[in-house]
Amino acid sequence: MKFSTSAIHTGNEPNLEKGGSGDVVVPIHLATTFARRKVGEPTAGYEYSRSGNPTRYALEKNLASLENGRYAFAFSSGLAAITNVLLLLKKGDHVVSIDDVYGGTRRLFVQVFEQFGLEFTFASFASGKELEKHLKDNTKMVWLESPSNPLLKIIDIKDVCRTTKAKKILSVTDNTFASPYFQKPLDLGADVVVHSMTKYIGGHSDVIAGCAVVNDAGLANRIKFLQNAVGSILSPFDSFQVLKGIKTLPLRMQKHEENAKKVVEFLSRHKKVKKVYYPGLPTHPGYNIAKKQMSGFGGMVSFELMATLSQSIKFLESLKLISVAESLGVVESLIEHPASMTHASVPKEEREKIGLSDGLIRLSVGIEDIKDLIADLKQGLAKI
Ligand SMILES: *Cc1c(COP(=O)(O)O)cnc(C)c1O
Repeated sequence: MKFSTSAIHTGNEPNLEKGGSGDVVVPIHLATTFARRKVGEPTAGYEYSRSGNPTRYALEKNLASLENGRYAFAFSSGLAAITNVLLLLKKGDHVVSIDDVYGGTRRLFVQVFEQFGLEFTFASFASGKELEKHLKDNTKMVWLESPSNPLLKIIDIKDVCRTTKAKKILSVTDNTFASPYFQKPLDLGADVVVHSMTKYIGGHSDVIAGCAVVNDAGLANRIKFLQNAVGSILSPFDSFQVLKGIKTLPLRMQKHEENAKKVVEFLSRHKKVKKVYYPGLPTHPGYNIAKKQMSGFGGMVSFELMATLSQSIKFLESLKLISVAESLGVVESLIEHPASMTHASVPKEEREKIGLSDGLIRLSVGIEDIKDLIADLKQGLAKI
């Protein structure tokens, strides 16, 4: 089945068996526990809703298909999914992460997991060769985001995964920025894909959710065990919300990208704009790799203005249609200032080291009419 068809149908198959209701949309199963005929085995396959729930299972089946994976697990947030993946490790293990990893992920690594004896190295690498110098004898996991947040750096996922596979290191790709519509890391050799489904997959700013997707059965069993043991599962109602969002994921992604390209064109020509970061720009250092490993460049754009910090803030506060807000990948355009919002938890000297300047602005281009978006940016830029 092709992506757009699967997005609508997988997990939503109507039950036309005798006694089934034929719903074309999966029902929200609120039951916390499931009755059984025999004491020793669950009759209908479900026992207790933390361990398994029909609505969540429908979503998990759908998510696996979106990523060309065999197993998917839904969690109560992106960070809950990331936590469960980190719990695959044990005391003394070392993780190499890209340096401009999502701020909340870095906070989780450093402020939570370091206390439990995990070691982290944050490094800039785009290929397997560049990664190698950061590996140690106890390196057990490599953490990637491509495109990264907020600098939209591109990593050659296939090349990095060739190195991690040869050294039996688990590779994880946070695919939130690309969405499975534009990039499928498992096909490129990743062992685990995680998403904040709060962003493109959900798409409507009305649900916080996360997932992990894998191909390997042994790995799937360990994550399933952790999902139940830790308990940070996605609720039936939220699972339904995400499933609903996914149906329009292909359409939304096409529009996000179409609009982003026009915004990039506009910003690149504007005299008050110093630099535009977008992997679809031929001048972007990761352009050729992005073209090879993604089927589209996505809807995220970052830029710097020819302006002081206070003027940049004034620009943001002058916008009328585009909301100044954290989050991304949703139907409404959102704009933010990483240094004081999403990446405020990253120390200033760390931010400077990775090239995240105080003047950087990140725009999640929504699916509104492009004329209204450009008009808003134009009037905002005129105020500074
Ligand atoms: C938002 C985000 C997360 C965290 O997800 P939540 O759903 O907010 O917990 C992780 N990674 C990336 C790239 C994100 O953008």
